[in-house]
Amino acid sequence: MATKRNYVGGEWVEATAGETYDTANPADPSETVGTYQRSDRDDAAAAVEAAAAARDDWANTPGPERGAVLRRTAQHLEENQEELTELLTREEGKTTAEAGGEVGRAIDIFYYYAEKARELGGSVKAASSPNTNLYAIRVPVGVAALITPWNYPIAIPAWKIAPALAAGCPIVHNPATVAPGVAVGIYEALDEAGVPDGVANIVTGPGSTVGDEIIGHEATDAVSFTGSGGVGEMIYEQAATEGKRVQTELGGKNPTVVSSSADVEEAAEIVAAGAFGVTGQACTACSRAIVHTDVHDDFLEAVVAEAEAIEVGPGDEFDMGPQVTESELESTLEYIEVATNEGATLETGGESLEGGHYGDGYFVEPTVFSGVENDYRIAQEEVFGPVLSVIEVADYEEALATANDVDFGLSASIVTNDHTEAERFVNEVESGVAKINAKTTGLELHVPFGGFKGSSSETWREQGDAGLDFYTIEKTIYDFY
Ligand code: NAD
Repeated sequence: MATKRNYVGGEWVEATAGETYDTANPADPSETVGTYQRSDRDDAAAAVEAAAAARDDWANTPGPERGAVLRRTAQHLEENQEELTELLTREEGKTTAEAGGEVGRAIDIFYYYAEKARELGGSVKAASSPNTNLYAIRVPVGVAALITPWNYPIAIPAWKIAPALAAGCPIVHNPATVAPGVAVGIYEALDEAGVPDGVANIVTGPGSTVGDEIIGHEATDAVSFTGSGGVGEMIYEQAATEGKRVQTELGGKNPTVVSSSADVEEAAEIVAAGAFGVTGQACTACSRAIVHTDVHDDFLEAVVAEAEAIEVGPGDEFDMGPQVTESELESTLEYIEVATNEGATLETGGESLEGGHYGDGYFVEPTVFSGVENDYRIAQEEVFGPVLSVIEVADYEEALATANDVDFGLSASIVTNDHTEAERFVNEVESGVAKINAKTTGLELHVPFGGFKGSSSETWREQGDAGLDFYTIEKTIYDFY
């Protein structure tokens, strides 16, 4: 694959210092997947300045015209769907089915906001004086800095880029260094779609310098960050102190409650899909099954069987791919050791997988612990790997208290045949997404997405109409005639 360059001011450019770096295939780390620019602060600043120069023209471009750019971008992505899917699998490790689903989602997001760009309006109000038009319109917030993680490397960029551009904001994007290829693919599509120079910019390289410069630049008006809590909290403080509009969407410790009335087999399928899908590397992954004592033993047996039926391996013939990097794999193995030392019982899994079709890839077994207390680290901290903790509870009240007794609040679900209990749960659980009889992962693109507590800055939501709110400011207009 050719070395990929930054896209700045409508040109494909190299980092000024001339440095590059390679990415590796997590299923076979000896394979180089891509070569990208190792940019520095100067490159990042140049991109913000290019965006600032394009700001007024893009803001004044009619919404339907901005939407047409997004529609053509979606079409170009669609033409390259297969290639992007393969790149996502090779660079991030998702199975082909998971990667295909994610690329399809990114395409749909561009089509969705292409239409939304036509609808950007405002509201008309009754004035207190005669001969007066009183209304509020939405204007773009300005230059938006976008910082994205590696775990959904095309869908998350899409759900920031598309609403920002639809709203009339120029963007500067620093994707995670680990898997930037499919994000660069979006800018190739934007370029082919004729996005005006400077409106869309991507600069690859370390977040600690490139991302930091984009966020801190005086011409940056808004910051949209998705990633880990530690980095997100620092960025929130920095951006808010500088008076910038900021949203941070962070990690999770998502529970599924299994009620005494649940169908145990169904519950085990739901929990396993939430815990082991995308190798547990989802912010909404289920990492705690909170199970009523009446069904605990049967559920445990069923969920262990689900975990053991998962075939681990690379590409399109297996159910679960590798972890993204060696350090992510090591972190998961460390948590497995911590849980064992804390007194949890390892029911299945727990080991990394090597040799044969695993080669030197970063594979790990789907892992289930029982006997977990909610104050164990394994039940409180985000693991970001395929590790499930089963916690036994006596009744609904204890299940709810346990579900809520974490610093996070991103997604939660309950498996139950008791309608009252289901309704109580979705109202009482402290979580941005709450589901009945469904896995914690997965959300449609036209509904608001964001967390409670440590999972989010709780400022603005992403996706749907809420996605446009972040990138626009309301302006009230009096017209006396
Ligand atoms: P991370 O916090 O390590 O990195 C996220 C991004 O921040 C990367 O692009 C990185 O380069 C950049 N960055 C790092 N340091 C920076 C700095 N000092 N200044 C500016 N940018 C900086 O997270 P990750 O490992 O890439 O992603 C996994 C995390 O993301 C998990 O915690 C997961 O739960 C979370 N996540 C949340 C959501 C959500 O919508 N809530 C979705 C997906 C992932």
